[in-house]
Amino acid sequence: MRKIGLIGGMSWESTAEYYRIINEQVREILGELHSAEIILYSMDFYAIEKLQQENRWYEAGVLLADAAVKLEQAGAEFILICTNTMHKVIHQVEEMIKIPIIHIAEPTIRAIQERGLGQILLLGTRYTMVEDFYKGRYAGSGIGVQIPVDAGLEIVNRIIFEELCLGIIREESRTAVLAIIEKASIEGAQGIVLGCTELELLIRESDVALPIFKTAELHAKYAAKEALR
Ligand code: GLU
Repeated sequence: MRKIGLIGGMSWESTAEYYRIINEQVREILGELHSAEIILYSMDFYAIEKLQQENRWYEAGVLLADAAVKLEQAGAEFILICTNTMHKVIHQVEEMIKIPIIHIAEPTIRAIQERGLGQILLLGTRYTMVEDFYKGRYAGSGIGVQIPVDAGLEIVNRIIFEELCLGIIREESRTAVLAIIEKASIEGAQGIVLGCTELELLIRESDVALPIFKTAELHAKYAAKEALR
């Protein structure tokens, strides 16, 4: 079994899910008392979020790269960055290590292609929804990406940082996100990408008629299979 390095803590609410899902997946495949070999570097999200807000991405990248180097030194054989947003600095991190990083968008894109969908709604932080570092990954995939319009964008972003990253799950926030999803489906979305690792704590399959793609779950399951490959 290969050792998985996780750069987590952004937020720890979703990193805990990675830990659970990877271990469940390894047990499902190998059975008995098997569990995954994981090395976790959990960041202080307060510092990272401040750098995001102040547009100091390079400094945030230095912190993540330092974590990646330590994971490599500790024996990790590949790395997951357990947040969609911080993939903005993935190249900066990759430059500092020899082991690969599995990009969070890849397992999701593959899952959407397997379902044969041509148009999705991307929900995530403002950075993930608006900027190109993430949506750009979909270029050439045959999948069109739409994002919430008008107030929808700020509503989703606020729920992520002011509630989900603090472990707060509110029924009214679920209702608000479901209304955004409903609107997008009328506008042609065939599937919903929960492109923030905490959104899957709020939105469940049973809430939505369209197929939903949970980036953290897909990323974690892919990593478990990769560790056993
Ligand atoms: N975990 C979130 C994501 O997947 C947001 C936290 C962050 O800004 O890194 O994008």
